[in-house]
Amino acid sequence: MRVVLLGPPGAGKGTQAQIIAGELSVPAISTGDIFRANVSGQTELGLKAKTYMDAGDLVPDEITLAMVKDRLAEPDAKAGFLLDGFPRTIAQAEQLRSSLHDLGNALDRVLELVVDEEELVRRLSGRRMVVDGQEVQRDDDKPETVRHRLKVYREQTAPLSGFYDSEGLLARIDAIGSVEEVTARALRALGVDGGDESGQPASV
Ligand code: AMP
Repeated sequence: MRVVLLGPPGAGKGTQAQIIAGELSVPAISTGDIFRANVSGQTELGLKAKTYMDAGDLVPDEITLAMVKDRLAEPDAKAGFLLDGFPRTIAQAEQLRSSLHDLGNALDRVLELVVDEEELVRRLSGRRMVVDGQEVQRDDDKPETVRHRLKVYREQTAPLSGFYDSEGLLARIDAIGSVEEVTARALRALGVDGGDESGQPASV
């Protein structure tokens, strides 16, 4: 199964991506994680991406698209994948569609995690990661950067919802609730774990 997980920063995409990908037995591919690993490893890609990430801006398409193309060409992604954090612009979505088309494939479903903005700001400002046993705040989770990332999401990524809806691929999931509740809604929308009776995508 080939799935895209869409949703604003703080919607719980990373957590849900890991669980859902495990249920589907496909790799969870997070462009944010790949960028962060490159920043930590001080690779050329990481050095190029860091300035944009620190500012809460999107990394330019020429960097992002080449990276995703390479990742999707790896053997573990051949039979399916769950993309977390990609695509983030209509141009990226079009590129993804044509890359998959060239491989004779297409997306099966796009899941959008829906959370209102007030809740997102609350979640992001309290969010911490564990690095070397220490709880740290991501640089881009600082309040001013959070506000900017949400604006970038509204302007550049939110239009993907309509794009995928018009392709008949979109399922919108209410992402307020426990991790387990949100996972159950997502799996139902994917037709896994029983699914809904019509076999159609669920909506909020
Ligand atoms: P995330 O962990 O998905 O919130 O991503 C963290 C940061 O990585 C974003 O704020 C962007 O700077 C960069 N990034 C991740 N995915 C993409 C993408 N698809 N296009 C452009 N930049 C991205």
